[in-house]
Amino acid sequence: MDESLRTSGIENVGKIYWGTHIAQLYDSVEDFFNIAVSYITSGLKSNELCLWVYSQNTSFDEIIKFLEVHMDDADSYVKCGQLMLIPYTEIYIEDDTFNEVRANSRWKHYVEMALKEGYEGLRAVADTYWLEKSYYRTFERYEKNIQNTIPEMNFIVLCLYDVRRTDTLQIAEIIKNHSYVIIKNEHNFEVVRNVELQIKDRQLMQAHEHDQLKNEFMANVSHELRTPLNVILGTVQLLELRKTEEDTKEHKYIKILKQNCYRLVRLINNIIDITKIDADFYELKKQDCDIVNLVEEITVSVAEYALSKNITVDYDADTDKKVINCDPDQIERIVLNLLSNAIKFTPAGGKISIFMHDKAEKIELIVKDNGIGIPKDKQQRIFKRFEQVDKSLARHEGSGIGLSLVKALVEKHGGIIKLNSDEGKGSEFIVELPCNVQNIESYQCIDSTFKNSPEKINIEFSDIY
Ligand code: ADP
Repeated sequence: MDESLRTSGIENVGKIYWGTHIAQLYDSVEDFFNIAVSYITSGLKSNELCLWVYSQNTSFDEIIKFLEVHMDDADSYVKCGQLMLIPYTEIYIEDDTFNEVRANSRWKHYVEMALKEGYEGLRAVADTYWLEKSYYRTFERYEKNIQNTIPEMNFIVLCLYDVRRTDTLQIAEIIKNHSYVIIKNEHNFEVVRNVELQIKDRQLMQAHEHDQLKNEFMANVSHELRTPLNVILGTVQLLELRKTEEDTKEHKYIKILKQNCYRLVRLINNIIDITKIDADFYELKKQDCDIVNLVEEITVSVAEYALSKNITVDYDADTDKKVINCDPDQIERIVLNLLSNAIKFTPAGGKISIFMHDKAEKIELIVKDNGIGIPKDKQQRIFKRFEQVDKSLARHEGSGIGLSLVKALVEKHGGIIKLNSDEGKGSEFIVELPCNVQNIESYQCIDSTFKNSPEKINIEFSDIY
């Protein structure tokens, strides 16, 4: 069976895809109890985290009582945490007003929690009885937005609307923004289907699954490539140890072999990490460390390499020390990536400047070059996966993953990356990182790891010939 298909538990709705947005127009609390209880029971049986967001027209005890009439083990689901009942204020209301941004982030939090705890996804009931007329417009926009974002999540939601408090215009909006709308006709429930949205849900879901499959395949292949590559690299290193002083041809071949092994190592590592970040499996190993010292060390180590290409590297900072909570290995990777691009796209005779700017709450790392620059119309795109300004055969070596990984790593640190560039004049990448510290007293002075392992520079710079 298609794993993205879920049993809704609602008659006339049947199986639904993750990302389905359902509405029910009720005129009594019993109406929605009847529908919502069988919908929730279905979710509990299918290993989904179930969340009931209740409003002022009912209470925790009333819902539990009703659930217990229809299922024997309601209480045990609450106790084990698979069924959660929370008041509307925990999702929608902050400081006595409806907060759209908070509501979105609360839903995202519960979907992530469901997946983290091993459930298939989140199934929610959300009663909108709290909705006052003054919130209608913002709420409609919020619902439209939810309809656009949930197809990408393992999330289904049944929104409850009290028909007695809803005008015709609002009903039209509800039908527009939900894939199914359940209404009561005399004593029966009828389902109005929004075919356009149903098709869209399905297409988005399939595209999302296809993407996931592709990512899994990329990650598996990359892991498989690592083993033979390590064997080749190990053999090359052995050959290097055995090489004679005189044989310059042999030296040249070994160098070519090694550089190309490093390029493959870099590509494979980047693919593995970017897939992990995409799947939200990537964890930073954060610790308090002096980022000013770290960046200075990296710069000094790279300067010599750049000089061999006739490019000078300057370093300057307006502070001697700044301890922040970060992953030093990944900071190194960010800096090395930006520096390797700067060297790659700056002709001989050029200059690269690194500057650390202490902005109290934040620290700014600026990598500036006077190289070829980036055309204005390409500047937004270069942070996207596989994007390169010049895709012609004459272009520089590279895969177009570097900057998307840098951006993802900066964002994992809670920071941002900006670019200023003029074609023909040069580029300036600005990384802004928040200065959170765990315990300033006990921070450790971190030596950049490639002090002990120059391999790291060789790997990050392997695209430069
Ligand atoms: P690649 O592996 O191709 O270098 P990146 O993601 O690191 O991939 O960079 C994407 C593209 O951005 C590069 O191919 C290049 O066109 C452009 N670019 C990045 N940094 C610079 C720079 N300092 N100067 C000019 N162009 C740059």
